Amino acid sequence: MNKAESERLESLFQHLGYQPTAIAGEADLIVLNSCVVRQHAEDRIVNKINALRALKRSSRPPILAVTGCLVDSDTARLKQRFPHIDHFFKPGEYPGWLAKDEPFPMLPQQPSPSTYVPIIQGCNNFCSYCVVPYRRGREKSRPVSEIVSEVKELAQHGVKEVVLLGQNVDSYGHDLPDKPDLAHLLYELNDINGIARIRFLTNHPKDMGDRLIEAIAKLDKVCQQINLPVQAGDDEILKVMGRGYTVESYRQLVARIRSQVPAIALSTDIIVGFPSENQEQFQATVDLLRELRFDSVHIAAYSPRPDTIAARNLEDNVPPSVKKERLDTIERLQEKIATEINSRLLGKTVEVLVEGRRKGRWHGRSRSGKLVFFSENDELLGEIVKVKIEKTSPWALQGGMYR
Ligand code: SAH
Ligand code: SF4
Repeated sequence: MNKAESERLESLFQHLGYQPTAIAGEADLIVLNSCVVRQHAEDRIVNKINALRALKRSSRPPILAVTGCLVDSDTARLKQRFPHIDHFFKPGEYPGWLAKDEPFPMLPQQPSPSTYVPIIQGCNNFCSYCVVPYRRGREKSRPVSEIVSEVKELAQHGVKEVVLLGQNVDSYGHDLPDKPDLAHLLYELNDINGIARIRFLTNHPKDMGDRLIEAIAKLDKVCQQINLPVQAGDDEILKVMGRGYTVESYRQLVARIRSQVPAIALSTDIIVGFPSENQEQFQATVDLLRELRFDSVHIAAYSPRPDTIAARNLEDNVPPSVKKERLDTIERLQEKIATEINSRLLGKTVEVLVEGRRKGRWHGRSRSGKLVFFSENDELLGEIVKVKIEKTSPWALQGGMYR
C-alpha cells in the first residue's frame, strides 16, 4: 500500500513541477512514507527522519514532510518530537499544504507493466496486535466506476496487470450505496481491453466468500494466486488475536479454494511469539504449514504496537531468543516446502509478464506469482512471454524464452 501511495504522490509532485532526484542534498522537497507495522520498521523510519536534521540546517533547506502510518492524530506531539519536519499528513491523504485542487489519487505517471490500484482504504477489524486500523482509519471503498475508469486509463498507458490493494479486499464495497463486492469488481475489470492479468491482496479468511472463489475460477484474467493470512495454527491464539475464524474453518476454506481452482498458488502470513504462545501452540502452527503447504509464507515475530488491544492488555512474554528460534524453524520448513513446490515447474513453460531488467537479466512474474529470470537481448519490458524453466529455487525460477 505504501508503494502504491508513494507512486501516486510522486506523480502528484511531478504534476506540480517537481522532478525526482536521487541526491537528498539537491531536493527542494523530501517526503518520507513511513510504515510502523512492527517496531523494527518504526525504528528505521525514525532514524531516517532524524538523519534529515542536518539537511534542514544547510544553506538551501528542503521542505520536509512525513506521511504513512507513523502519522497519528496527534500531529502536535509529532511536531514537538520532530521540529525539523514541516508537514505531517495521514497515509492515503492529500498533502493539503501544497495544492488543494489537484485530482488525487493521481495515476502513476510512468506506470509499471504491473501497477498497484488501491480499492479500499483502512480496516474495521482491529486484530488485537495490529496498529493499522488506528493509523489508517475505517474502511472506505472507492466506487466501482472510479476504479474501472482508472484501470482503463492505465491500460491505455500500457499497463498489462493490475494488483488491487486493500487491508481486507474481501470487505470491498460494503460501505458503498449499491454494495458491490470484490467478485463484482473483478467481473467488470475482466472486460477491460489491454489488461491481461488481475491480482488482489490481502484476503481475510473470515470474509472470503464463495462468490469470489467462483470469480477466480471463471475469469480468465484473474490470476490463480491468493494471499490468505492465517497468522497462527492454534484456536486459542486466533481467538485472542481476534481473527474471527478457527483453524478448522480456515482448513475448509483452503479445501474449497483448491477444489475449485486446482492451480491456485497460496501464500500466508504468520506471527510467531504472540503473547503467551507456548511450544505446543507454536507446534500447531508448524503442523498446519506442513499440512497445507503454501507457496510462500511471510513470517514476523510479534511486536507490541502502541494503542493496540494486545499491547494494552497482554504482556509481551515470549523471550526474543524463543521468537527467533520459532521464526527460524518456520523459515527452514517453508524453504523445504517451496523447494519441492517450485521444483515441479522444472521443464515446464510458464507465462511471464516482463517487469524489468537486473544485471542483464529480464525478470517478471508467472501467473501464479513466481519470480522468473531469463536472459534475452530484445527489448521486452511490458511484454508477455513464454519461459521454459531450467532451474528452480525456493524463491525464484530461471529459464530461457520459448518462441
Ligand atoms: N490486513 C492483513 C495484514 C496487514 S499487516 C491481514 O489481515 O492479514 C501485514 C502483516 O504484518 C500481518 O499479516 C501480520 O502478519 C504482520 N503484523 C501486523 N502487526 C504485527 C505485529 N504487531 N507484530 C508482528 N507482526 C505483525
Ligand atoms: Fe490489521 Fe487485522 Fe486489519 Fe489486517 S485485518 S489490517 S491484521 S486489523
